[in-house]
Amino acid sequence: MSDTVVHGKCLCGSVTFELTGNIGIFHNCHCSRCRKVTGAMHASNLFVSPEQISWTSGRELVKRFEAPDAKYFSTCFCSQCGSNLPWASRSGKAVIVPAGTLDDDPGIKPLSNVYFGSRAPWHVDASELPTFDEMPARK
Ligand SMILES: [Zn+2]
Ligand SMILES: [Zn+2]
Repeated sequence: MSDTVVHGKCLCGSVTFELTGNIGIFHNCHCSRCRKVTGAMHASNLFVSPEQISWTSGRELVKRFEAPDAKYFSTCFCSQCGSNLPWASRSGKAVIVPAGTLDDDPGIKPLSNVYFGSRAPWHVDASELPTFDEMPARK
């Protein structure tokens, strides 16, 4: 498991990175900040140690934004395509990796919903929805 390399990249492919080692934390975060940066119902974030990530290309394109009203919350993104990218916590002790950036299976699934009290008013449990492999034909 510790020898596994999990690759990730942004939408335009300019920024690439690799994760190594054991990934033990994976949350769906429903807080309003995560919803803003992802534009989605919740973020799906892995947590790794700083030594577990290496940037393999495009690091100079990575921009960081630190929410001024937040103690910890920051975000990183590709300045070319806008994709969310891994960001180091302000303490430098952890790196938060948006799971949607990964190209490989990290071998772990989300363990919990956090900040569920802040969930969107339109939140619905995804398993309750009709599901299609692709966009269904219009009726
Ligand atoms: Zn990009
Ligand atoms: Zn959050």
